[in-house]
Amino acid sequence: MVQALYLHVPFCPSVCPYCDFHKMLRHEGLVARYLDRLEEEIHENALQYPGPLRTVYLGGGTPSHLRDAELTRLLAAIDAAWGRDGREETTLEADPLTFDEDRLEVFAALGVDRLSLGLQSTQDDTLRYLGRLHDGAQGVEAVGMALASTMRVNVDVMTSMQEQDLERDLRTVAETGARHISVYGLTIEENTPFARRGYRVDEDRDAAAFELSDQVLAEYGLQRYEVSNFAANGEESLHNLGYWRGAFHLGLGPSATAYLPAHGPFGARIKQQPLKGWLLGAAPDVDVLDVDSYLLERLLTGLRTREGVDLAALRDKTGVALESTAGRWLDDTIKHDLLTLAGGRLTATPTGLQRLDAVMRAYVGSRRLMVTAGG
Ligand code: SF4
Repeated sequence: MVQALYLHVPFCPSVCPYCDFHKMLRHEGLVARYLDRLEEEIHENALQYPGPLRTVYLGGGTPSHLRDAELTRLLAAIDAAWGRDGREETTLEADPLTFDEDRLEVFAALGVDRLSLGLQSTQDDTLRYLGRLHDGAQGVEAVGMALASTMRVNVDVMTSMQEQDLERDLRTVAETGARHISVYGLTIEENTPFARRGYRVDEDRDAAAFELSDQVLAEYGLQRYEVSNFAANGEESLHNLGYWRGAFHLGLGPSATAYLPAHGPFGARIKQQPLKGWLLGAAPDVDVLDVDSYLLERLLTGLRTREGVDLAALRDKTGVALESTAGRWLDDTIKHDLLTLAGGRLTATPTGLQRLDAVMRAYVGSRRLMVTAGG
């Protein structure tokens, strides 16, 4: 059953030079056409996937950059299509400068019960480097305001920037009382202004940030439950846990990706077109998962989490026992303290979590060898 909805809002108050998400500055005509098309898409999808929805996630872009009347229209369309019965979490991504106490009440009245704040840093120099509009004091004030509301709150913190005092950022955010913090390393994506300016990420800083985050946030009772996410017990993001557990979800709006029970036993990833094509109703890209890509996805996402991957459940679903088909990879990664296998669950060790790319490259390499040997 499909019980989760991701909805993409592509409009932002400004465009950050490191960002490669599908986003653009607000344009009145486009916002109006976007909402019209979205209402249709919500209606069509609810007929095919009637829910109920456990989780709704409005991401972007900057969904909180929509005006009250626009957000009301959007959430009313979701309510009309699926109702709120059975809803356990409705998250809204928000920029610190897009709300005040009154707006938080509007969000809550619309059913939003979790706010994910794009803070990134509490230091003015670092925020300027990232091209953010808010300064450190405004960001911390916004976090405090959100925490004083009825909503659960996540705060995004970015790492690995030159001149950033990461420990100060982590402590300042944790001191606010935030119970969920996402910690992401800056990455330089192709075709962004940062890439064109030749910016590089310092890999040593990146590795140090990983350990520092564990240490500092543990002091505040926050544990890493996914490679980039820390939470106090019970404060985890239900919506994102669904992704990492391989649950189906709808993806509506331009460039949104869905994972749906369609086109075969392992489902399909459906990626909507960017805004121009999406408004014209252009067909989405469809990627049908076969058994190999399904196994790879389950390992890729499952091993990011503290709970790891249940190998028996994977075998029941696919008919493939990894102990046989990837025995050598398992033995090697366990021997080198990258993965552990206990009670049928495969999980990454702290070292393995830091080197997940290499662990997964070794898995793909071992599969290629088998195909070559077999054929
Ligand atoms: S606010 Fe977020 S989505 Fe918008 S440009 Fe900046 S990083 Fe990208």
